[in-house]
Amino acid sequence: MAEYAIAPPPVPVVPVEGEAGGFPVRRILCVGRNYAAHRREMGGDDRDPPFFFAKPADAIVPPGRNPAYPPRTANLHHEIELVVAIGGVGSDVPVEGALALVYGYAVGVDLTRRDLQNAAKDKGQPWEAAKGFDDSAPISAIRRWTGPAPQGRIAISVNGAVKQDAVVADMIWSVPEIVSEASKLWALAPGDLIYTGTPEGVGPLVRGDKVTGEVEGVGALSFTVA
Ligand code: MN
Repeated sequence: MAEYAIAPPPVPVVPVEGEAGGFPVRRILCVGRNYAAHRREMGGDDRDPPFFFAKPADAIVPPGRNPAYPPRTANLHHEIELVVAIGGVGSDVPVEGALALVYGYAVGVDLTRRDLQNAAKDKGQPWEAAKGFDDSAPISAIRRWTGPAPQGRIAISVNGAVKQDAVVADMIWSVPEIVSEASKLWALAPGDLIYTGTPEGVGPLVRGDKVTGEVEGVGALSFTVA
């Protein structure tokens, strides 16, 4: 008997700088409202803590491919984010669950159907259609990393105009706090990616827009909205 009844889907893969093999994506967690100024621009209360949502692994758009403008929206938004790549699981850390080990970092864009997100918020409905659609997670190559997490500039430009420009150090939950909080809710495992939230300045994209994003010390990504 064949191992599968249908052909198994391909594993999404993100390239790793300096490595012949890529990083296989298991799942994608995202942090919402992790920069105070963005929380305000989204109408949030300053006392609301950050929170998690998720995208499917096959939402990844690796470098060299352009995301398709998604259907059923008239307000696609960019959110530039630092991405944490989980490469192992630690056992000697005193938090609930096992604290995952950081393999490296990448630059990502959390593409969002803002109109569907606002409608979902109004109705108390889930965010999958707003956040977890096909091609919703462009990402750069992963840079392997040891030591303290990146703290520097995070920025995105659309057609050469800077739209978001902040520093990762402004995150409400730091990378260790994000990994710790996530580890209380899920058993993180190698292959997991965490999009860590976006600073203020989110805004619309249309077909043909040329997008370039960067996180200081981590890398850069660029794509055209197809
Ligand atoms: Mn986001």
